[in-house]
Formats: sequence, C-alpha cells, structure tokens
Amino acid sequence: MASIPPDSPQPVLRFAPSPNGRLHLGHALSALTNEAMALRLGGLLLLRIEDIDLGRCRPEFVSGIVADLDWLGIRFDGPVRRQSEHFQDYRAALARLSARRLLYPCFCSRQDIHREVAAFEARSGRACPVDPDGAPLYSGACKAIAPDEAARRAACEPHVLRLDMKAALAASGEGLGYRAFDSEGGDRAVPVDPARWGDVVLARKDVPTSYHLAVVLDDAAQGVTHVVRGQDLEAATDIHVLLQRLLGLPTPLYHFHRLLLDEDGRKLAKSRGSTSLAELREAGETPSSIRLRLGFA
Ligand code: GLU
Repeated sequence: MASIPPDSPQPVLRFAPSPNGRLHLGHALSALTNEAMALRLGGLLLLRIEDIDLGRCRPEFVSGIVADLDWLGIRFDGPVRRQSEHFQDYRAALARLSARRLLYPCFCSRQDIHREVAAFEARSGRACPVDPDGAPLYSGACKAIAPDEAARRAACEPHVLRLDMKAALAASGEGLGYRAFDSEGGDRAVPVDPARWGDVVLARKDVPTSYHLAVVLDDAAQGVTHVVRGQDLEAATDIHVLLQRLLGLPTPLYHFHRLLLDEDGRKLAKSRGSTSLAELREAGETPSSIRLRLGFA
C-alpha cells in the first residue's frame, strides 16, 4: 500500500483498533479524540486494523469496525493498513535485533512462569515484582541458556522472543523520552523508564511479532507523527520509545486520553461484555447522541 512518507510536513494521526470484538463507547471516544485532534492540527487521520492475534480476530469484526466508524461519521484518509499483511516486516525487524544479540528465545509456559513466581515468593518472603500492567516480571531463566543450546531448541520447540532489556538499554544510550502534546497546542518532554517492564515479549509463539513491535513499526511505516490513544497505553510507551531508538525510527508525539469506566470502575472491555456501538445503535442512539454523550458536540 502507499504510505505517507515519514518526513511528510503534514501531521498524521491514526486510530488502531483490534478486531477481536465489536467497538464500544471507549473506542468511540478514542476515534473521536483522534478526529478532533486531526482537525485541530490540520492532519490526516489513518485507520489501522491491529489483527496480529490470529486466534481472536475475525473478518466480521473488521467489517463491523468499518461500519461502526462510518456510522459515527468519522472519515479516514488513505488506505486501511492491516497488520496481518505485514508479518515479513516484523520478521525483518526481529532479525535485526537478533543480529545485535538483543533478543533471546524463551521456552517457558504460563505454568512455568507461575511456578517460578511461587518459588521466588516462597524463597524471598516477598511478592514478585510486577510490571506497570501488574504482570510478574520475567525472571530471565531462559536468558541463561547457552546460545548454541537456545538456537538448537528454538529450531524445534515453541518459544517466544524476549527483549534482553539490560542489553537493549545499554545499546540505546542515554536520554530516552518523548514529547506529550495536549489539545491546547502545548507539549512537554516526558522521560521514560523501559526497565520497569523487564524482558518484554517481542514475538509470540504463533506470530512473528507482539503488540509492542508491530505498533512501533507500523506507526513509522504510516508516517504517524501524533499518536492519540488511551491512558492505559501510557506506560507501554516506554517500550515503544526504546524500540524506536534501537530500530532507528522517529518517535512521534503522544497524547493519552481519559478512559471510560464501567460502574465497577474498570475500563470498558469487549471481554467484559461492554455494550457495543451496534447495540447502542439498535437501541435508538444516533451518531450525534453518541458524540454528545462523549463530549464532542
Ligand atoms: N490496538 C490497540 C487497542 O485496540 C491500540 C493500539 C494503540 O493505539 O497504540 O487497544
């Protein structure tokens, strides 16, 4: 597909939903915030379908997303990018990181990790350290496997690829950070601390990427200059800035919008059955009532 060149003088924004369910109000808020920011900046607004999760993404959800956004009246510029069509690009980036010895295969199953966490807690008498999403930090057990042995096992055993965070930080140099922008036209420098994520997964067992790697490569490939997304992804931006530095890619400006919460104070989620836009439409809501409800007149 034709991409907008990264040196495009015009701001480029994107809305990047994952098609593992129908869109809900939280997505509408994100898409409408992107639309408002694109309008304010005089920028282009692109649509990207983040469909790397081959088990959960379904074609009917992709067409549902397109229909819901169209119904809301949001217009996108340029062709739609689908991550599942770019696995070769993700493989190439993994090969580059691997050649610099920044990745290692990890053969641990979920149970192995639970066992290690339990063993750590029994041994140390304290809770296992967790990443900003609350998941236990990986102990690094597979990093200790000798490179020859790791390569031999990787050829025949299922594994993920993890970033060796220590080596990656040493390779990236000083001064990692990004600029956060707001709706009033201001921006400020934000330092990042990727170490708090530990050895993150950059390629899953079944696909040659993870969210972190794909989002960084696609934002660069689409020439995205301004990323507008929910506050739930603010901490993960630390990883993205590190990957941009390692892969020689530009760091966009970032803006994190508020999240919509359910009555239990939890973020709206398809997995918790939050009401979809399609259901709201059937119940009589209109694009204007949705916009009004979310603060977009
Ligand atoms: N695909 C992600 C989601 O639906 C959003 C990714 C991003 O905006 O960086 O939550």
